[in-house]
Amino acid sequence: MPKPVVAVVGRPNVGKSTFFNKIAGKRISIVEDQPGVTRDRIYTEVEWLNTQFTLIDTGGIEPKSDDVILSQMKRQAQIAIETADVIVFMVDGKEGLTASDQDVANMLRKTNKPVLLVVNKIDAHHFIGNIYDFYQLGLGDPMAISSVNGLGLGDLLDEIVERFPDDDDADYEEDRIKVAVIGKPNVGKSSIINTILGEERVIVSNIAGTTRDAIDTPFTQGDDKYVFIDTAGIRRKSRINENIEKYSVIRSLTAIERADVCLIVIDAAEGVTEQDTKVAGYAHEQGKASIIVVNKWDAIEKETNTMNAYTKGIRNQLSFMPYAPILFVSAKTKQRIPQILEMIKFVSNQHALRVQTGVLNDIIGEAILLNQPPSDKGKRLKIFYGTQVAVKPPKFVFFINDRELTHFSYTRYLENKIRDAFGFEGTPIFIEYREKG
Ligand code: GDP
Ligand code: GDP
Repeated sequence: MPKPVVAVVGRPNVGKSTFFNKIAGKRISIVEDQPGVTRDRIYTEVEWLNTQFTLIDTGGIEPKSDDVILSQMKRQAQIAIETADVIVFMVDGKEGLTASDQDVANMLRKTNKPVLLVVNKIDAHHFIGNIYDFYQLGLGDPMAISSVNGLGLGDLLDEIVERFPDDDDADYEEDRIKVAVIGKPNVGKSSIINTILGEERVIVSNIAGTTRDAIDTPFTQGDDKYVFIDTAGIRRKSRINENIEKYSVIRSLTAIERADVCLIVIDAAEGVTEQDTKVAGYAHEQGKASIIVVNKWDAIEKETNTMNAYTKGIRNQLSFMPYAPILFVSAKTKQRIPQILEMIKFVSNQHALRVQTGVLNDIIGEAILLNQPPSDKGKRLKIFYGTQVAVKPPKFVFFINDRELTHFSYTRYLENKIRDAFGFEGTPIFIEYREKG
């Protein structure tokens, strides 16, 4: 199940970032931001009562400025409505109700997403009277918290978790391949999707709304069933500021979580950007299959070696996913566009590949003979046997004598041997060690 997303919306200075840091810093958040994915704290992974979710501070997306407060808030609210499962609308209990609170409340009342009205800065019980004015917003009972003193935060987290939707991905059949098309604005994502959907043999079903309000595009080709995840943010150009790339990053992250296969679309002229690296890093860490699609290949002047040189550059920059196939395509001329679906089907199968324990151990045995496991102070790593414990992504457990003796370079070696023998193209594979007494 994809992690639910919680967005915090509110005027500047109501205390959103204080709240956010309190939650993130309190180590309620046990899952640190993924390394290499993002350093900025617009979102953080939170765990509460065994439920994990992603908390987004919409206020952190743009710098604070006074003259554009209202339009800025409306944009934030719009983003929250589009991307979140639960919206926390924060107001200031010291300053009281303001006109812009009313405006945002008007927008939030129209969504069918759960909205929690939270009055911050209720630093002591005797300020509780300050919350009653906020009933006028028509968003139900206001909850009192103090982000600075940490009051009411546990109750709020309880209320948030209670409002998460049930797993909406049950809507799709097990054999329908879920594809997230990700990449910066203007790289050609919607052109690629439209070209694929425009192919004669593709049949697009009615656009299905999930409980998340994400607009997905299910389609079939022959007997093969696919769905493009969250095409709303891609095909309908949003009126809200497209230039703010961080919005598209947040959307990408939730799409990746719901997907089996990620198409990482890159503009041939621009190459891999830092944002692409972050988003691709997320796909890798989430265990998704990935295909790197270099679009606008028609616009590149080519010499004999151009494709090789490009491949090298990409392998260098996305060095953590050497397994991802690279396709050079053009949505404009349709060059190699038909290969995209073939490749999606292929890597999706690889993602679900399960190998027999016996055959696996033959391969491991050979690998060990060729290249001895590491040793330390006269003690050598012993690998008793390995077994594949999961698919999508493929996960292996190796039973060993002593975890201290494992080394990432030897793990990498074993991974390569497994890939040489079985493929697993397009998918990350994970190896875990367990000590066997
Ligand atoms: P944001 O713009 O909504 O992210 O607001 P900030 O988190 O930057 O907070 C704005 C101001 O309100 C800062 O001076 C905070 O110290 C203060 N503040 C935040 N939470 C509380 C609170 O619970 N009680 C009080 N008294 N002040 C708070
Ligand atoms: P998105 O924002 O990633 O969905 O990008 P779009 O599909 O809207 O494309 C952005 C711009 O790039 C549009 O002007 C497209 O016509 C252009 N474009 C898309 N694919 C190609 C391509 O393969 N070659 C060229 N030359 N232009 C393209």
